[in-house]
Amino acid sequence: MFKKILIANRGEIALRIQRACRELGVRAVMVYSEADREAKYIKLADEAVCIGPAQSTLSYLNMPAIISAAEVTDAEAIHPGYGFLSENADFAERVEKSGFQFIGPTPESIRLMGDKVSAKQAMMKAGVPCVPGSEGELPDDPTQIRRIAKAVGYPVIIKAAGGGGGRGMRVVHTEAALVNAVSMTRAEAGAAFGNPAVYLEKYLQNPRHIEIQILADKFKNAVYLGERDCSMQRRHQKIIEEAPAPGIARKLIERLGERCVTACKKIGYRGAGTFEFLYEDGEFYFIEMNTRVQVEHPVTEMTTGIDIVKTQIMVAAGEKLPFTQRLIQVRGHAIECRINAEDPYKCTPSPGRISMWHAPGGPGVRVDSHIYTNYFVPPNYDSMIGKIIVHGDTREHALARMVTALGETVVEGIKSNIALHRELMLDAKFTSGGTNIHYLEEWLSHHQR
Ligand code: ADP
Repeated sequence: MFKKILIANRGEIALRIQRACRELGVRAVMVYSEADREAKYIKLADEAVCIGPAQSTLSYLNMPAIISAAEVTDAEAIHPGYGFLSENADFAERVEKSGFQFIGPTPESIRLMGDKVSAKQAMMKAGVPCVPGSEGELPDDPTQIRRIAKAVGYPVIIKAAGGGGGRGMRVVHTEAALVNAVSMTRAEAGAAFGNPAVYLEKYLQNPRHIEIQILADKFKNAVYLGERDCSMQRRHQKIIEEAPAPGIARKLIERLGERCVTACKKIGYRGAGTFEFLYEDGEFYFIEMNTRVQVEHPVTEMTTGIDIVKTQIMVAAGEKLPFTQRLIQVRGHAIECRINAEDPYKCTPSPGRISMWHAPGGPGVRVDSHIYTNYFVPPNYDSMIGKIIVHGDTREHALARMVTALGETVVEGIKSNIALHRELMLDAKFTSGGTNIHYLEEWLSHHQR
């Protein structure tokens, strides 16, 4: 096992990884920007290094600063968390070239999965079901583009190969709009992601977002830890996640999980990863893979009892997965609400000083958050200030626990989306289970105040 790890992230995930390190007896080096000097996990840290000003391009995205922090503190490995540099293959490569272990997959795996065209091709080869669409990148010739779209059938969606964060996508309903939409998406993709390649796929009208969590070691052992339903999204940003996905036959999930495990073995994947799918009319369609720990990993930890972050660190240190598929059992139901510093209905960010924070508690309640009373939420980063996760014997039990937990939570001084979560936990459609990816936005459009 490592003696010392550098955590190249901030906020709740930095604290989460720090906790995993403590349990493993590993010293944790925290890095921070000037805006995060007062953070709780910095005060708790074995060691902490300031890596630059608030602006993330100069701190959390600053590769030389992070690598030199690892050098001066004599860390052996770097955990990238999620966001920032976590899916940057060049960073993973620089980390390894500098003599540190990157806690994540190889740079080759990150690169393969980071390009959605190559990811989709690799998945098709491995027998993972994908959304029907163009075979690879779209050609330049308008006649050929029209032919491909016609064969797939309208509506179609044009997507950037290098896209991410819900950007670089355009839905096209008619042939008349097609060629122009392709040129526009290409131009945007070139500017935003430095890669103008686009591809086309069938636009699914009312899917759910279902994803499979996997863990793999470098000895080609891989397991899946069941699925998560992350359909409650606004602008492609998830706000509520749960496990298992309500109303989907276990047999279907098992078959899908096994395909994901096979795909991991085929590409030599190691570490934690998530295969994301759209689910419609009983069928799953792969859309992308995330090659890192995800915000919503706790719901899987609550239902399987497996610590995903500790396992990530163990397999990066060269250990074998400590369990086989047969030993993994999904128990009960877990739900996560992301607590954001934002207006609950308009969703506009609300940074500033938290004058009062009271966290919920009790059986089956977990709070992953770095905030405290008098904490200042910096305006420079994502608005998520924490996550409330509950576990119950059944979905109804978990829902009841979440209602209680949200009722106990106090955030004052800034706005938060707790009121929104409280309403959604009592919403008839959501509580009956199986809402699709458009449900939350439709709900919000009827509940503007
Ligand atoms: P990103 O990497 O930007 O998150 P994804 O490929 O994961 O991009 O897609 C993000 C979201 O866009 C999905 O969760 C879904 O809401 C929507 N989407 C993507 N592809 C399709 C499709 N073929 N049909 C319908 N919606 C889609």
